[in-house]
Amino acid sequence: MKNVLVMFSKSDRFFDMTARHETARSGHPARPPANSPIGPTGLRPHRLTEPSPLAPKEIPSSGRRGRGALTNDSGRFEHQARVLTDDGWDIPDAPTPLRTEVTAETARTILTRNTSPDVPFDRSINPYRGCEHGCVYCFARPTHAYMGLSAGLDFESKLFAKPNAATLLAKELSRKGYEPAPIAMGTNTDPYQPIEQTWRITRSVLEVLSDFNHPVTIVTKSVRVTRDLDILSDMAKRNLVKVALSVTTLDAKLARTMEPRASTPAKRMEAMKLLSEAGVPVGVMVAPIIPALNDAEIEKILTGAHYAGAQSAGFVLLRLPLEIKDLFEEWLKENLPDRADRVMSLIRSTRGGKAYDSDFSQRMRGTGPYAWQISRRFELACKKLGLARGGWNVDSSNFRVPGRDKQLELI
Ligand code: SF4
Repeated sequence: MKNVLVMFSKSDRFFDMTARHETARSGHPARPPANSPIGPTGLRPHRLTEPSPLAPKEIPSSGRRGRGALTNDSGRFEHQARVLTDDGWDIPDAPTPLRTEVTAETARTILTRNTSPDVPFDRSINPYRGCEHGCVYCFARPTHAYMGLSAGLDFESKLFAKPNAATLLAKELSRKGYEPAPIAMGTNTDPYQPIEQTWRITRSVLEVLSDFNHPVTIVTKSVRVTRDLDILSDMAKRNLVKVALSVTTLDAKLARTMEPRASTPAKRMEAMKLLSEAGVPVGVMVAPIIPALNDAEIEKILTGAHYAGAQSAGFVLLRLPLEIKDLFEEWLKENLPDRADRVMSLIRSTRGGKAYDSDFSQRMRGTGPYAWQISRRFELACKKLGLARGGWNVDSSNFRVPGRDKQLELI
């Protein structure tokens, strides 16, 4: 049971009783949208720059600048809960910057195995824990509780990097009896989140995979993936790689609030175009689709992705396990108060009356008429545009451990 330290009503001024984290409303207005959400992709800007018909005219300020979650409740395994208190002073809040902290950890293994029947891969690599992109709906948030941290602001600001990832990977791939199969990157945290710029762990992992002729699939919300075009295009020639850009909306204002440090929608489209032009098979993931928030944009996103060179498409319906439900609902009420109840009610209608149902048979797609309608629209749009569904066809047959053949020759 949680041990509440102090309980006080919320006000404009808060203190965090543990002095570890402080929560304040920033008061900053949302940044204006970029001039064009499509940028240099050459797409049809007059169609694709339109905001979502369901997006609000102006999205109000939401917590700290550049952060998705509004709060930082204790992790679910903690014995103490942090609470907000009113100190009684009538002094306006000054926005407190929340710095990103990165801790290097020495990982013991790097390949994570998974047996879920509803995901198309059985192994993955996550060079980082936590994700600075800070998408409010991120289903990886609850994993931060295993480190005694919050699924809220901690998840997007207290990050862990695994600098020994490439070395470990080379060791694991060299093990006798290793059976190659596509490795997924970007399944839990984004391999191209901002800290990759300096840590370059994802790149070092790709270098190992390329040396071993090992297939990989990547999902990202960052244009930073194009930094590695050299290695990706080289791997693409050997049918070793496929990249999917995750796009949830073409509305920059909505994206800015919902996924504050991910690339703008225009930049993600630009990344697709650059990858495609470099010969890298590219797809689009519309993930997550959120009823009454971005589902009206399905056809537009797919059309934009098609013109940017995407060959395939996939989607996931919003999932709200564990702490995410409260974080998301809190964000909705703060940012879209007039629509919050409707969104939550539709979400429940796609999950048999609950906010979330983890049953494998419907975890990704939902159930009920609204979920069916979304699936149907998605399928029809893909068919019309010639976008393949799924299709992570990469080649595992040329896997080799560098140097091993030479050693055999010398025996
Ligand atoms: S980019 Fe992906 S991993 Fe990162 S916060 Fe967003 S949804 Fe989560």
